[in-house]
Amino acid sequence: MSSTEKPAPLSGVKGMNDILPAAAPLWERFESAVRGVARAYGYQQIATPIVEHTRLFTRGIGAVTDIVEKEMYSFTDALNGEDLSLRPENTASVVRACIEHNLLYDGPKRLWYQGPMFRHERPQRGRYRQFHQFGVEALGFAGPDADAEIIMMGQRLWDDLGLSGIRLEINSIGQPDERARHREALIAHLTAHEDQLDADARRRLHSNPLRILDTKNPAMQDLVNSAPRLLDFLGPESLAHFEGVQTILRQMGVAFHINPRLVRGLDYYNLTVFEWITDALGAQGTLCGGGRYDPLIAMMGGKAAPACGFGMGVERILELIQEQCPPNAPGLCDVYVVHQGAAARMVAFRAAEGLRTMGLDVILHCNAAGQEASFKSQMKKADASGAAFAVILGDDELAAGEATLKTLRDGVSAGGAGGTQRRVALDALADTIVAALVGDDEDDEDLA
Ligand code: ATP
Ligand code: MG
Repeated sequence: MSSTEKPAPLSGVKGMNDILPAAAPLWERFESAVRGVARAYGYQQIATPIVEHTRLFTRGIGAVTDIVEKEMYSFTDALNGEDLSLRPENTASVVRACIEHNLLYDGPKRLWYQGPMFRHERPQRGRYRQFHQFGVEALGFAGPDADAEIIMMGQRLWDDLGLSGIRLEINSIGQPDERARHREALIAHLTAHEDQLDADARRRLHSNPLRILDTKNPAMQDLVNSAPRLLDFLGPESLAHFEGVQTILRQMGVAFHINPRLVRGLDYYNLTVFEWITDALGAQGTLCGGGRYDPLIAMMGGKAAPACGFGMGVERILELIQEQCPPNAPGLCDVYVVHQGAAARMVAFRAAEGLRTMGLDVILHCNAAGQEASFKSQMKKADASGAAFAVILGDDELAAGEATLKTLRDGVSAGGAGGTQRRVALDALADTIVAALVGDDEDDEDLA
């Protein structure tokens, strides 16, 4: 390559998004709401690695699922030949970690997680190859109160975020023996109308017929609507658990709709299943899916313990926040420090650190080009930063042991006579700014 030739710019992997600074306020709002809700219900954070042994997911999710059949990023570690995968979801990993570290030794645990998940799907609105989930797992709780609790956490999160129009659908898929009886009836029904099945459904007719009820193919809707309902095959214990969940939700004023076609197609899912859904995002409207998976811990080699949980699609929720109540772009800092000359620069560094120690967010001007920027161009940057104040340090100020404090935001006073600009002794600078900003907050409260 000749020295004048520019290398072609590189692009990211299809379906895997950069989260740009403009989206940061949205993520921050969501993450702080999530942490608040988790704390409010006594859930502790757990974080597991993004890479796991592939067999964790074939066992922990099931071999006959969309995820394991066609969506996993699996590879052989070139250095030691291990079969590894990027995690497509987090429940299997959380259960593995709990078993491996014996976390349930002293009783049930309430856990939450967040982070990126990977599925090789067709990228489209609300569906990406790297996406993020927030989820909870309530491990060791058998009763319907745990199911109701995690559902109510969802409701509280929507309320905290100011989101509306999100509906709750629930169902019970009973226990394996109940599903076995339903399965026979279901296969009979589907076989009688085999000509109406699409290729996916035909393949699953005998391996995972329940999942056919979950089809998104419009041509099969009549067929699945007329199929035998799993709810009609539940025995008294399963019905009592389902009734227990509904009673709590009703008493707590959480509206829901029973959708008999809501399923999870895996053997170790049981009893409650639920989804939070919005119509505001087009085809990918499921914000959250969850339910009970009592048999999973034992299936993965742990001591049997009941469990339930949910996983939420963060990108879909952020899109809804952006649509319904977008956050204001916040200012980058409270104070922007402008300076000129080598001596002033050292004073500026010290002043900026002093302000940060007082809890203020401070941007210290750094020159982008080789030469020092003029006061005028530095002040333009200060204005654009959203700072409440500029602190100006030049030869005059230095000689007097002072700084010039200039108000940049409407309604924020530089103090003193209430002017927009005044000189302040360097050692009083931090106190003056803090007092001005606190006074400003108090004014806001008076108005509220
Ligand atoms: P879908 O039917 O939409 O494929 P799923 O049943 O595969 O969903 P879960 O495995 O239950 O979804 O994941 C929980 C949530 O994670 C979903 O409700 C959704 O909000 C989100 N989600 C799942 N896959 C993706 C993806 N590829 N991109 C963005 N979000 C996703
Ligand atoms: Mg999916």
